[in-house]
Amino acid sequence: MSWRADVITLFPELFPGPLGASVIGRGMAEGAWSLQTTQLREFATDKHRTVDDTPSGGGAGMVLKPDILAKAIDAVADERPRILMSPRGKPLTQQRVRELAAGPGAIIVCGRFEGVDQRVIEARALEEISIGDYVLAGGEVAAMVLIEAVVRLLPGVLGAAASHADESFEDGLLEYPQYTRPQVFEDREIPAVLTSGDHGKIEKWRRAESLALTKARRPDLIE
Ligand code: SAH
Repeated sequence: MSWRADVITLFPELFPGPLGASVIGRGMAEGAWSLQTTQLREFATDKHRTVDDTPSGGGAGMVLKPDILAKAIDAVADERPRILMSPRGKPLTQQRVRELAAGPGAIIVCGRFEGVDQRVIEARALEEISIGDYVLAGGEVAAMVLIEAVVRLLPGVLGAAASHADESFEDGLLEYPQYTRPQVFEDREIPAVLTSGDHGKIEKWRRAESLALTKARRPDLIE
């Protein structure tokens, strides 16, 4: 069984969007992973197909109703992790991405408006995941970020498996700078060590660049 994402959303027409392009889209076409969307509104029970209501206690905006969302989740739930995209969630890390890639897939709920009734988060044990400290208008783009990060790790999606090992975060550091031809671009040369053919020296140079870059930009990753 290949990796399977179920996305619960008020905007299924946004999918697959960028997930249909390039290596991620090819991976889907070749069966390495699959995507199914659920229109939350289909689980509404009144004639207006209401999915949200005003916040208890007052305040601006609307909140997604717990009963409707729970029914949508129950319609697709199985042993896969149930995730709610949320700015209050745990920040997404490459570590969590790797864990998800090792599993059967994910059920992903996209919030809208002011968010989701707290009780459905608890009752369906939703794992809240954030893609960063800023606020989006909805969870769809965040869900795409999560899915794309996972799918590129799946076997057969990215060609050479070796290309994962060196990347930013995979060894706890940011990646060293990359270069390609031409040899000279606007008076800037490729660092000589990279064209020396000395693989030991290249390895050492890359490691040093990685460390320097991480110290300068993300000291929190070194600590
Ligand atoms: N009132 C909420 C924000 C709601 S934004 C608050 O202050 O916490 C509407 C929806 O967009 C959220 O329910 C969530 O699904 C999604 N969203 C917004 N920012 C996000 C982020 N940084 N990471 C993941 N999802 C996000």
